[in-house]
Amino acid sequence: MARIKDTSVEMVKATTDIVTLVEAYTRLRKSGSRYVGLCPFHQEKTPSFGVTPDRGTFKCFGCGEGGDAITFVEKKENVDFVGAIEWLADRFGVQLEYEETSPEQDRLRKRRERLFQLLDRAATFYERYLWESTAGEPVRVDRAVPPRRLRTCLAARSVVEVGAGRADALVDALARA
Ligand code: ZN
Repeated sequence: MARIKDTSVEMVKATTDIVTLVEAYTRLRKSGSRYVGLCPFHQEKTPSFGVTPDRGTFKCFGCGEGGDAITFVEKKENVDFVGAIEWLADRFGVQLEYEETSPEQDRLRKRRERLFQLLDRAATFYERYLWESTAGEPVRVDRAVPPRRLRTCLAARSVVEVGAGRADALVDALARA
């Protein structure tokens, strides 16, 4: 998923005017360095909700809701952090920039996931082969490797062999065992 650049998040925080933001939900009245009004989060008849623009925060002493502009949007618009940043960027006209996730990076990630799946299947296969086949009998008897450790060894060997494109060598080794 595309990630918003930190610089864009900072830009949104710097550009957002919390009084303008909150006034879209409830009428505010200036009181000293603060703004007060009826809480947009709970029903009330006398104002216990306040915004402190200097700090960019809001607080309700009635229901306890509080936070910054991002928290406010998260709660009122029912979105997560990224959603709130995008919402605020749209509201206050900030152009967001996203981190690059190239098709090449996606391709490598998918390849890595497939490789892990393959290794797991290979380990399961060799484990069963060693424990159930006739060819695996000498190994089972002579070395008496505990199953868990054997699985780990095989997984590690599979990585080396498959990684080097020499899976056949492992198959041969097992056949000779
Ligand atoms: Zn409240």
